[in-house]
Amino acid sequence: MLSIRDLKVAFRMGKVQGEVQRQLAVKGISFDIPENSTVALVGESGSGKSVTAMSILNLLPDNAERQGQILFQGRDLLQTTLRELQAIRGREIACVFQDPMSSLNPVFTVADQIMEPLIKHLGMSRRQALTRAEELLNEVGIPEPKRRLGSFPHELSGGQQQRVMIAVALACSPKLLIADEPTTALDVTIQRQVMELLAKLKDSHKMSMLFISHDLGVVGEIADRVVVMRHGEIREQAPVADIFHAPQDAYTRALLACRP
Ligand code: ADP
Ligand code: MG
Repeated sequence: MLSIRDLKVAFRMGKVQGEVQRQLAVKGISFDIPENSTVALVGESGSGKSVTAMSILNLLPDNAERQGQILFQGRDLLQTTLRELQAIRGREIACVFQDPMSSLNPVFTVADQIMEPLIKHLGMSRRQALTRAEELLNEVGIPEPKRRLGSFPHELSGGQQQRVMIAVALACSPKLLIADEPTTALDVTIQRQVMELLAKLKDSHKMSMLFISHDLGVVGEIADRVVVMRHGEIREQAPVADIFHAPQDAYTRALLACRP
């Protein structure tokens, strides 16, 4: 499904004595996300997880430079035109981030946010899109979905905002969902519910997922494979059972030891 090959990401940090300074945030990593599987990317904060995720759809700031290959269904996403990429974003590969309010538009209703990709990418009429939006809200577990269609993001709880973001992400049935710390900002009980929702949707929508978390403890039930990153490098990658029961790397063992 997605194959990351020797990905390097550097940030240009201005000049010192006429020389452009670069900070290497991702130092040549390779891993695959097979079809219908969930790969968890874990590691302490600052290890390069988000930079890796944002590289996939080229959502990095202008001072970032990417090298290597990101093969998605045979195409290298590092070589695609902006036009090709815009057709992939939201339609074939969708994202959910830590803070739903960074992605939801505060002046649009819940219905508008979910209908937008349906109209833009799938060419649905407004009426069709509205019906589908209600179905999606129901699917992500929003109570009274019909009534909620007219709500604005600030009228929802944090957990409900994240569910709406997930509905937006799922709207076009993407093949890959990138979830970057989707539960980190939520209360512990709500975290669990959102994790269960993602696991359920991944199966019912037959998609693959890149699930990012700084907490190795939370990925055990959702991941098929785990990739452990630190300081921009992969320390270990293995099926989830091996990571938990036979970790090979000292850093993985340290992460396991600090689970609550
Ligand atoms: P993680 O998601 O694992 O917490 P990130 O991928 O956000 O870590 O960051 C990895 C490294 O890249 C960090 O050292 C961070 O300072 C650096 N970095 C991230 N974004 C930028 C940027 N826009 N400019 C410069 N450095 C950045
Ligand atoms: Mg991050």
